Amino acid sequence: MKFMKTSEIRESYLGFFESKGHLRMDSFSLVPKNDKSLLLINAGMAPLKPYFTGVEEPPRRRVTTCQKCIRTGDIENVGKTSRHGTFFEMLGNFSFGDYFKNEIIPWAWEYITGVLQIPKDKLFVTIYLDDDEAYEIWTTKTDMDPNRIFRLGKEDNFWEHGSGPCGPCTEIHYNKAGVTVTTAEEFVKAGDEDKIVEFWNLVFTQFDGDGKGNYERLANPNIDTGMGLERMATIMQGVDNIFEIDIVKDILQGVCGIVGKEYGKDKNTDISLRIITDHVKSVSMMLCDGVQPSNEGRGYVLRRLLRRAARHGRLLGVKDEFLYKVVDFVIDNYGDAYPALHQKADYIKKIVTLEEKRFNETIDSGMDILKEYIEEAVKENKTVLEGEKAFKLYDTYGFPLELTEEILEEKSITVDIEEFNKNMKDQRERARAARGESSYMGADEVPLNKIDASITTKFDGYNNTTLKSNILVIVTDEEERTALTSGETGYVFTETTPFYAEMGGQVGDTGLILTETAKVKVTNCKKNVGGKIAHYVEVLEGSIAVGETVELKVCEKKRKNVCKNHTATHMLQEALREVLGEHVHQSGSYVDEERLRFDFTHFSALSKEEIEKAEIIVNEKIMDVFDVVTNVMTIEEAKKSGAMALFDDKYSEEVRVVSVGDFSKELCGGTHVRNSGEIGLFKIISESGVAAGVRRIEALTGFGAIHYVESKNKELKEISSILKCSESDVIKKIEQQSNELKIKEKEIIELKNKLASGAEEDILNNIKEVEGIKVLSAALKDIDGNALRDLCDKMRDKIGSGVVVLGSEVSGKVNFVAMASKDTLPKGIHCGKIIKEVATIAGGSGGGRPDMAQAGGKDAEKLECAMENVFEIVKKLVK
Ligand code: ATP
Ligand code: MG
Repeated sequence: MKFMKTSEIRESYLGFFESKGHLRMDSFSLVPKNDKSLLLINAGMAPLKPYFTGVEEPPRRRVTTCQKCIRTGDIENVGKTSRHGTFFEMLGNFSFGDYFKNEIIPWAWEYITGVLQIPKDKLFVTIYLDDDEAYEIWTTKTDMDPNRIFRLGKEDNFWEHGSGPCGPCTEIHYNKAGVTVTTAEEFVKAGDEDKIVEFWNLVFTQFDGDGKGNYERLANPNIDTGMGLERMATIMQGVDNIFEIDIVKDILQGVCGIVGKEYGKDKNTDISLRIITDHVKSVSMMLCDGVQPSNEGRGYVLRRLLRRAARHGRLLGVKDEFLYKVVDFVIDNYGDAYPALHQKADYIKKIVTLEEKRFNETIDSGMDILKEYIEEAVKENKTVLEGEKAFKLYDTYGFPLELTEEILEEKSITVDIEEFNKNMKDQRERARAARGESSYMGADEVPLNKIDASITTKFDGYNNTTLKSNILVIVTDEEERTALTSGETGYVFTETTPFYAEMGGQVGDTGLILTETAKVKVTNCKKNVGGKIAHYVEVLEGSIAVGETVELKVCEKKRKNVCKNHTATHMLQEALREVLGEHVHQSGSYVDEERLRFDFTHFSALSKEEIEKAEIIVNEKIMDVFDVVTNVMTIEEAKKSGAMALFDDKYSEEVRVVSVGDFSKELCGGTHVRNSGEIGLFKIISESGVAAGVRRIEALTGFGAIHYVESKNKELKEISSILKCSESDVIKKIEQQSNELKIKEKEIIELKNKLASGAEEDILNNIKEVEGIKVLSAALKDIDGNALRDLCDKMRDKIGSGVVVLGSEVSGKVNFVAMASKDTLPKGIHCGKIIKEVATIAGGSGGGRPDMAQAGGKDAEKLECAMENVFEIVKKLVK
């Protein structure tokens, strides 16, 4: 067996499986994609799950990878066993329904004994109890000694996670200590003692399990294997553990140099040295893949590892930040295999430094307090620390729970986890409740409002829209951060900014924050406690970190439009005072890039003329091209100068007075145009009341006003084309048309009445004698109420003695009128009763006097039927 560098083993493995028809794929990111079940990639097959489950089509049915893995479950073992790291690389080859046991077992044997030339008598194999198939292949298709094959149970040799694809596995082990074992029991014991080391696991995914112990054989079984690269390197390099292989040893030696300790002299020192080596490696890899330190999820894993490493530094006597120096050694040794480490070196070191610095600020006081807790517990013979105390260490001193537990473990004390979790939950709920409040006053639980009071922001945006400054603080809705990465949102505070924070009715600026590699969108800007300015951001590309110098760029187009609207608001106030009187005062305003809204004191609605006058004054002053000048002065000086100010507002000692020529002078902290001419055009679009004695004007400026006028003009053009006249004739034409319409309406009525009288002869044909009374009943069309009554009257006169009932449909509705001559009444005739029944038939109602009645109905199609019934109704009445 010849010495092989770690990089040579990596290459040899991937090359071997390429020669067996596999596609070599790069390591996937440590951050799982579309997989909520996993915080971090922990095995070669994890990122390939969609190919195993058939959700996605693999690029080839044979794939081989060297996958970066993080296993925090092994954290307790790190530094103590020879074979565990929280970060390691897993070599793997995968068959997605392609080859199976018959191929992989002989290939594995070929690779380790043929390619790597590991002596066969140093190897052991385990298989699952019932897997005779695997036994058969091992003993017939390879020359593995059957005495070195052990059958183990489910916990060792069956791969299963809940329900779904699962199956037995076969594992290959190396006899590191050269012990003699003959039974499965002896074998397991030697493994526990780290004398025999498992290095390759071949999983045969051949079943679909229901999670209750029932298995169905898969038609297309899969192969998933995983070999620890570091473990194989310990074998090929003949060293004791994974910290002594070439690429890791260099890091470990680097740590020794930094902390001033020698490796191999003291057991506990060695453990700390290994922990620092391993954890900084994991932290660097995670940062490189975009994980951010935080209090949740994978960010918390990162923070925990980093703080654990920092604490072991303390155990070794280090006082200052040192982990960033270890990062250099990690990059030197892993940068060839993972070039992104080189590209992100500065960034990784910066975050590591910031995180360690933050922890360093509290670690000593935290350790002192923890010591007190321990002494107290020992004195009182307690074996459980109150969860509240562990939570205080977590919340105030940044001690991850696991770190506290680990330190307590040395004294055999545990933590009341339930109480810890309750404290955590309560705090989260408090934070959530506080977040619900919109104002920053009193909502002090929100990270945004917990920022150090010593932090301030200088606003330098009156004459500037771009400048460079450095980031002082970053927070998200959940926590304070050292950095923010692509896809995340949060709040950024810089030393200086050109971004105007929402204030005095003027909206906050938007724009970009840029570095050479990062692009961050500023979606809003608001003042925070103490006047510091919060940029509301969304990272579009790359990441930004505290301490970094960034370029802040306000969106100029929006800013310019806002300025136009803001200056115009001042001018509008002055114009209204001229038109309406000195009682006009601002009672509120809102200015954004699209329009302005100005609320002011005035007792009645403005007339059209008043609005026009105010608008003309503002436009005149725009055309006067007045310079807009800002002077900073004391509030007293400002008052003396006659500047307008809001009565209720509190002003600081120094105020800004904004003057538009000698037209308007107002106290204001907002941004303005340099000359009134920039406003271009001013247009009032509405006037309304908002409260008793308060009116509101909405107006547009610049292109907003121009577009408004244009759209009105377009409407006018359309109207003139519909009216078929020139634009200037539109009003004349409409007046003319509406006069014509009135005349026509009158004509129509006259014509209808004429028609009705013309139909009189026809109608008289509908007379019948009922019980000796003349009854006339007729269904008519388009004769409206009045005309129908007149007609009915006429008919009654014509027939002299009798009853007349008429019904007429006008646009879907029906009217009825009934009239009777006096002489018929004693015979039982009652128009009210007749009309009621008739109307009911046509879905209506009505009634009236015995000699005259009217009604209406809805069902025009029942009109004929209703009229035919009249004779029957009369008959009934008379009888
Ligand atoms: P062990 O029992 O030794 O922790 P495992 O059964 O957890 O190993 P598998 O899940 O089968 O290991 O992973 C496949 C291979 O990955 C192992 O054979 C080993 O070579 C490697 N491996 C697993 N965990 C680690 C670790 N924490 N550090 C380094 N290599 C590891
Ligand atoms: Mg394990």
